[in-house]
Amino acid sequence: MKAIISHDIDHITVTEHLLRDLIVPKFMVRTNLELALGKISLKEYVARWTDFLKNKWQNLDELITFNNVKQVPSTFFIGVKRGVGLSYSNELAAVWMEQIISRGCDLNVHGINFSDVDTIKEERELFQKLSGREAKGIRMHYVRTHQETLRYLNKAGYKFDTTVHAFEDPYKVGEMWEFPFQIMDGWVIENGKKWQSADLNEAKERTKKQIAKAQKHNLKYLGVDFHDRYFSRSFNTWLEWYFWVIDYLAQNKIEFVNYHTAISELESVKH
Ligand SMILES: [Zn+2]
Repeated sequence: MKAIISHDIDHITVTEHLLRDLIVPKFMVRTNLELALGKISLKEYVARWTDFLKNKWQNLDELITFNNVKQVPSTFFIGVKRGVGLSYSNELAAVWMEQIISRGCDLNVHGINFSDVDTIKEERELFQKLSGREAKGIRMHYVRTHQETLRYLNKAGYKFDTTVHAFEDPYKVGEMWEFPFQIMDGWVIENGKKWQSADLNEAKERTKKQIAKAQKHNLKYLGVDFHDRYFSRSFNTWLEWYFWVIDYLAQNKIEFVNYHTAISELESVKH
């Protein structure tokens, strides 16, 4: 089994959310609740407000640097439409697209529309216009799908999607590869709540079980989704969890690849 690590960009600044969605009030409630429940330390609480005042809710540079040191290929999904708490502008997205591409990372679409083929096509074209790159891959924001979503993504011209959560090997939908993924930061740390409900040890134990399950299913690729927002001391448990999961996979001799390497491997086996 090899591992594919990827990152969804849900936020860039604090101010992008003002007057647009409820992310900021939710953040305030969540942060105070996590302190009251003893899930975060006072130091972490203060760090959260520091990031807030700095208007910095992305950690892209820091995460790319860490991945490079650990020889983990960096794969990002960035949004070009607004929806469900994803509220940054195309201008700001374009600034980061350039940065991500210039650092040699793989850049794909964090999709908003999942139910209309024309809007899906339009979103793909907008990404291409803004980034100057072909949009090869996509993951839906909030992993939203309906029964036709994968067929629509294939029709729109994507080479791969990784929205489905399942312990299954990649499979083809028309010409497109679907890469089911197994582990998301929020699933192990929030565990069904809207705030951090697990501590680091619980999150590690839960993750070990998911990795063991993937091995039991003999999966070719383990998909792990970690949000760059949490690559910060202001989300200490999340940050430490990510450090740990990368080391744990490396110690278990699990190689890191990106989607493109995986697709070549899958297609060379086929022929
Ligand atoms: Zn998202």
